Amino acid sequence: MKLKIADRFTKELPADPVLENSRRQVKKACFSFVNPKKTEKPEMLHVSPEMLFTLGMTLEDGTSEEFLNVFTGNSILSNTKPYAMCYGGHQFGNWAGQLGDGRAINLAEIEHKNKHWCLQLKGAGETPYSRNADGLAVLRSSVREYLCSEAMYHLGVPTTRALSLALSGDEVWRDMLYDGNAAYEKGAIVCRVSQSFLRFGNYQILASRQDNETLKTLVDYTIKHHFTYLGKPSKEAYVQFFEAVVENTLETLIHWQRVGFVHGVMNTDNMSILGQTIDYGPYGWLEGYDHNWTPNTTDSQFKRYRYGAQLDMGLWNLYQLANALYPLIGEAEGLERILHAYYENAQAQYLIMMRSKLGLFTEDKKDAELIANLEETLQLTETDMTIFFRNLSDFSTETSLKGWTIVKDAFYTINEVSDAIKQKWNFWFMNYAERLQKEKFTSEERKEKMKQVNPKYVLRNYMAQLAIDAANKGDYKLIDELFQLLRKPYEEQPENKKWFVKRPDWARHKAGCSMLSCSS
Ligand code: AMP
Ligand code: MG
Repeated sequence: MKLKIADRFTKELPADPVLENSRRQVKKACFSFVNPKKTEKPEMLHVSPEMLFTLGMTLEDGTSEEFLNVFTGNSILSNTKPYAMCYGGHQFGNWAGQLGDGRAINLAEIEHKNKHWCLQLKGAGETPYSRNADGLAVLRSSVREYLCSEAMYHLGVPTTRALSLALSGDEVWRDMLYDGNAAYEKGAIVCRVSQSFLRFGNYQILASRQDNETLKTLVDYTIKHHFTYLGKPSKEAYVQFFEAVVENTLETLIHWQRVGFVHGVMNTDNMSILGQTIDYGPYGWLEGYDHNWTPNTTDSQFKRYRYGAQLDMGLWNLYQLANALYPLIGEAEGLERILHAYYENAQAQYLIMMRSKLGLFTEDKKDAELIANLEETLQLTETDMTIFFRNLSDFSTETSLKGWTIVKDAFYTINEVSDAIKQKWNFWFMNYAERLQKEKFTSEERKEKMKQVNPKYVLRNYMAQLAIDAANKGDYKLIDELFQLLRKPYEEQPENKKWFVKRPDWARHKAGCSMLSCSS
């Protein structure tokens, strides 16, 4: 296994001078050196061939003893010094102080084909940031992160990636639903991969401590390596840096809305500075289209991070990042201008995205109304988002009956559909058909375009749960089946049509399918 080590984070940024992993407040530093914990009986469950190649490894490397040992934390690559990062964050709207990589350890940074990557183990043991927890991860959350991050990548959503999924061989004590029913679960380790794992919280923690010197070092580092085109550090460059983060973040959030992904815990420590989707915890996929839905039971009271609020929460988080960068800029005007533009940009981009889902590629004054009516009607009866939009591409203006058939197949309970709702649907399809007349594409062309933005296959919560249930019994076939399926989410894959169905009834109220907590 040959990896080209190119550590720069630890070389260019200030380190925590204490060399042991006792929990503490880490000041004047961006990270702490810490070694992963040795595990009892590691076993590799799945390796992504694509990521092996992306990082300059071979398929043989992926099956080697060395690979197993490195990516379960049992041996350390030569010339590397693993580390955990220091960050803070706002959790559910409240400043939580220092959080940090409590169970993530960056093994190394490597370079391949002029691209720079950080390799990070999640669930590899305690760090100075573990607070009162154990630094470990369980199999269920690791399967979910492994499958979903790769699925998101193939959906075209900016995200961290995953290289491998392994069992540690150790047991982990968890209260899955925080209801007093704790039990031992299998421990697991995922190797995540990204250009950078920096979060809004990495900047916030420094600003909160008025450590402007380290803050400047970190921002300059970020611009130098990740926003190189912004050039030399200056107040203008800092404002432009912020603007770029806002744009990237918004782009990702619009994608989430497009595919029906609900992150579940959009705390500022879970917001990537690159705008990638990061930290797959109690996330979920919309089944019934519902702006009020969140999979996270920890957030069930206020539903702060519900589907319909994700764009707003993104803005809230960006305000916190702006506050953190402010000391380096000294004037609010530039930052405020960007934040004020967010709302309008978000609306404009949302409209373009929704138009594309409907196969509309020109502009019409009444599109916003058409879309708002659709969203309202979709929520009158539980209607499967993925099936509805995918089938909508089969709609053609030549047959007016088609509209009802499409939506009928996406309803969860047809009995709940009153005549008034049926009429609303007919009315909507009538308007839609009329609107389509203004487009220049043929039905066939439109269909093809719509299928590029409306996925057929997403990682429905129950699918991940089936893979987890089997894996907990030692059967890992379904992990691979879903991994392969989700590599081509926009393709028809007729042989896999059993996954293009509504959530089965048994999954409606089952833990892991409709209820997820932060316990992982
Ligand atoms: P999350 O809700 O997963 O984004 O985690 C919030 C914070 O808690 C982060 O600082 C995590 O590193 C930390 N954390 C979560 N689970 C654990 C764990 N099992 N051990 C140590 N730290 C954890
Ligand atoms: Mg997190």
